[in-house]
Amino acid sequence: VCCLAQGFDFFYFVQQWPGSYCDTQQSCCYPTTGKPNSDFGIHGLWPNNDDGSYPSNCDPSNPFDKSEVSDLISSLQTSWPTLACPSSDGSSFWSHEWDKHGTCSESIFDQHGYFKLALNLKAQVDLLQILQGAGINPDGGSYSLSSIQGAINKAIGSTPFIECNVDASGNSQLYQVYICSDTSGSNIIQCPVMPTSGKCGSSVEFPTF
Ligand code: 5GP
Ligand code: 5GP
Ligand code: 5GP
Repeated sequence: VCCLAQGFDFFYFVQQWPGSYCDTQQSCCYPTTGKPNSDFGIHGLWPNNDDGSYPSNCDPSNPFDKSEVSDLISSLQTSWPTLACPSSDGSSFWSHEWDKHGTCSESIFDQHGYFKLALNLKAQVDLLQILQGAGINPDGGSYSLSSIQGAINKAIGSTPFIECNVDASGNSQLYQVYICSDTSGSNIIQCPVMPTSGKCGSSVEFPTF
C-alpha cells in the first residue's frame, strides 16, 4: 500500500537547559569549540504520532552529511551544542539526531531544511527571554511548575511539556522544554500528546550555567 504523505503527525521541538545536563551525577563535557552560552540549546526536532508513538531511524541510506549543512555549522555550534562526554565538536550529536529523527521527516525536509527549521524554531521561541521576562531566572532558585508553563503559554499560545531530571543532590530541576509544531514546521500547535517520562514536581529548580 502506497503511500502516506509522511509517516508522522507533528514535531516535538526539544530544548535542553545545559545547567541541568551538567550538574547531574553523570556530569558533562563542554564542546571542543568552547563552553556554550548560558542559554537553552536544541536537543532535537522529533517526528511524533498523535498516539504517542514515534518513528525512528527511518532511512539508513541517507546518513548525516556535514557537507550538506556546511553553511549552518557555526549556528549549530551556538544553538545546538553537545554536552555529552567525551568532548566533541557536535557532529556526532547532530548526526545521531538526523539519523534517528531527521530521516523520518525527509519526505518534507532534506538535511539542510531540517537543521534550518530547528534553528528557526529556536530563534522564534527564545525560551530564556520568555522565562526571564516572567521573573524566572537560572539562579539556582525554585519556581512553580505552573509559573514556568504559564509564562511559555502566554508567549507562544500553547502549553509546553516541562521535563525534569535530578541534580547531584536529588533535587528536581528544569531539564528540557517540549513545544509542538505541525508537520510543515511553520505553526506552533498545542501538543496532541505529552511525553510520559520525566514529570516534574510542583516545585522546580532552575540551576545556573
Ligand atoms: P529518554 O528515554 O531519555 O526519555 O529518551 C531517549 C531518546 O528517545 C530521546 O532523546 C529521543 O531520541 C527519544 N524519545 C524519547 N521520548 C520520545 C518521544 O516522546 N517522541 C520522540 N519522537 N522521541 C522520543
Ligand atoms: P536521544 O536521546 O535523542 O536518542 O539522543 C541523545 C544521544 O545524543 C545520546 O546518545 C547522548 O549521549 C547524545 N548526546 C550528545 N550530546 C548530547 C547533549 O548535549 N544532550 C543530550 N541529551 N544528548 C546528547
Ligand atoms: P545516549 O547514550 O543514548 O548516550 O544517552 C543515554 C542517556 O544518558 C541520555 O539521557 C543522555 O542524555 C545521558 N548522557 C549520555 N552522556 C552523558 C553525559 O556525558 N552527561 C550527562 N549528564 N548525561 C549523559
